[in-house]
Amino acid sequence: MGKALVIDFSISPEFEEIRARITAFMEAHVYNNEGKLIEHEGLPGELEYELQQKVKQAGLWAPNLPREWGGMGIGYVGQALANEIIGRSIIAPRLFGSAAPDAGNAELLIVAANAEQMQKYLRPLAAGEIRSCFAMTEPEVSGSDPTGLRTTAEREGKEWLINGHKWFISGAIGAAFAIVMAVTDTSAEPRRRASMIIVPADTPGFKIVRAVGVMGSGGVGGHCEIRFENCRVPLGNLLGKEGEGFRLAQARLGPGRIQHCMRWVGTAQRSFEMMCRYSLRRQSFGEPLASKQTVQNWIADSAAEINAARLMT
Ligand SMILES: Cc1cc2nc3c(=O)[nH]c(=O)nc-3n(C[C@H](O)[C@H](O)[C@H](O)COP(=O)(O)OP(=O)(O)OC[C@H]3O[C@@H](n4cnc5c(N)ncnc54)[C@H](O)[C@@H]3O)c2cc1C
Repeated sequence: MGKALVIDFSISPEFEEIRARITAFMEAHVYNNEGKLIEHEGLPGELEYELQQKVKQAGLWAPNLPREWGGMGIGYVGQALANEIIGRSIIAPRLFGSAAPDAGNAELLIVAANAEQMQKYLRPLAAGEIRSCFAMTEPEVSGSDPTGLRTTAEREGKEWLINGHKWFISGAIGAAFAIVMAVTDTSAEPRRRASMIIVPADTPGFKIVRAVGVMGSGGVGGHCEIRFENCRVPLGNLLGKEGEGFRLAQARLGPGRIQHCMRWVGTAQRSFEMMCRYSLRRQSFGEPLASKQTVQNWIADSAAEINAARLMT
């Protein structure tokens, strides 16, 4: 009989050591500062900066970025495992330089930016000196199917003239620039129509309408509705080649999904641990909740679901 195929989910000693260092940092500097979070703004600027410097000194900055851009250079498995720990606290992703949408935008710029764009946008973004946003989704068409995007960028002389409507654009309030997905060739086949263009947030015609309401925290910079009204940027702000928007979007969103999902696994695991502690502490009808069979079933189901989600990611 042939050998059964078994996936090895064990964590290498190198990654175990990194996870232990991130865990120690979280216990020393992160959990105790969670109460200082300000909605839509994050931690007070000075405190955030101070903690980010500590993360950098500890060699734990930007698990998703290669070393030449100041990151840890630990590949996809490494960044997944690091983000699982980082996701245990809502304030940690920004402290470790792994917050969406900046992490994904930095990865995208590494893949597609030219030398000038790298210096102007990627260098300060990778260092955590500025924030950014990624503007693809539109209210009028399905976000799951971006072939229907309506925002246009037309060539006019030496500029792109951008008009359109976006929403759910995370981190837009306070972002230094947006990477905008816009149709540059309406006659091309659907997946070659759109391109990505860098739009500095202070460009006239870049208008933040509002932070769209979401369940729970709106995060730093909100999830915003934006209008582009005769917004003009130089032709040189094109990211990658014209018509490459879809290909680049996949390059950006793929790793981003791994990071997001592992952070949510970390959030779920911490919530699970809180639930277990509470069920041991809370007395009901003369015994802890943890003694009730139904509560035990719920806890077992949660443990199985979290583990399954973790292994699938
Ligand atoms: C908190 C938050 C932050 C976000 N941040 C950003 C951001 O920074 N930048 C950005 O550009 N966008 C962002 N988005 C938008 C996000 O990418 C879209 O919400 C997502 O792509 C889905 O698009 P939609 O909301 O238009 O839903 P729709 O595409 O209209 O889908 C509606 C429903 O139909 C289902 N559905 C769609 N197609 C199928 C199918 N083929 N089969 C079965 N079911 C289907 C979907 O699962 C969904 O339940 C964010 C969204 C949220 C909630």
